[in-house]
Amino acid sequence: IAKQKGKNCSHIFDIEKDVAVKHLNEELSRIAQALKNNEFTLYYQPKVDLRNYEIIGVEALIRWNHPDKGVLVPDLFLPTVKHDMLDIEIGKWVIHTAMEQLQSWQALGYDIPISVNISPLHIEHAEFVKDLKDILAQYPSINPKLLEFEVLESSALNDIELVSKVMKDCSELGVCFSIDDFGTGYSSLTYLKRLPAKYLKIDQSFVRDMLIDKDDKAIIQGIIELAKVFNLNIVAEGVETPKHGEALLALGSYVAQGFGIAKPMPAKELLSWAGNWKQHPCLIDGRD
Ligand code: C2E
Ligand code: MG
Ligand code: MG
Ligand code: MG
Repeated sequence: IAKQKGKNCSHIFDIEKDVAVKHLNEELSRIAQALKNNEFTLYYQPKVDLRNYEIIGVEALIRWNHPDKGVLVPDLFLPTVKHDMLDIEIGKWVIHTAMEQLQSWQALGYDIPISVNISPLHIEHAEFVKDLKDILAQYPSINPKLLEFEVLESSALNDIELVSKVMKDCSELGVCFSIDDFGTGYSSLTYLKRLPAKYLKIDQSFVRDMLIDKDDKAIIQGIIELAKVFNLNIVAEGVETPKHGEALLALGSYVAQGFGIAKPMPAKELLSWAGNWKQHPCLIDGRD
């Protein structure tokens, strides 16, 4: 009886698995279609220097303009593609679109560096550096220094040999790196030494709670000291209120990104935001 029951169970699991695979494949083909239909778009979120309010650059953040569901954030669709080649197709589209944006802004007289998030699968893809060379060659008027990449601390650690080599090759082309969500991936000091990055981005979870949680504040202080030792720059994510900005400045962390400065916005809003910011730079309470 037990044997029979086991068999039935595994049969049920097989059916469930089939249903899950079918569902995944449907979602993948819907996302592939969205890419073809131009339903994706990039929003841009500014990074500013809190000492002089200068705009340092913007981070590109993908959105899906879904015809029925409205504007979808990446957590709702990127996890679906993360083991699929479609992840790399989307990554290439993002880099391409960022280059187009740099070109449009350049034509209007603005040089605003754009940082692009690179997925774990994409950064380890054999053609990553070659594809980057090709795309830079398509935009000869754009200084490669205006394009930056962000890799998650966890994906940088996954294959440190490979990823540090890719980072080095890209840096030689002029494209620098940030280590994103820093503090969540348990980098050891020796690893950090081997990653040719320009910036560490302090994960927003530490910043959000630094005013109420001594441990989070201590972690931020530790990251700032670490950055000094390794000659890295710091970007603090999740700066939601003026108090966060003040506290970070007091600790010696200057570059900030977060709802207290601006939420991510469509490209067409960025220049008017920048114009307003230059006239009245000030942090606000941007908490939801
Ligand atoms: P991330 O790279 O760490 O980006 C920061 C995320 O925090 C963004 O969420 C941003 O909207 C949000 N954020 C910024 N400031 C604040 C704040 O003050 N408070 C709060 N609560 N949140 C803030 P978003 O746009 O939903 O993106 C989530 C993650 O998805 C990103 O985290 C990044 O890892 C990934 N992602 C976004 N765009 C792309 C992309 O084009 N390619 C890839 N591979 N990943 C992307
Ligand atoms: Mg990022
Ligand atoms: Mg982050
Ligand atoms: Mg994140």
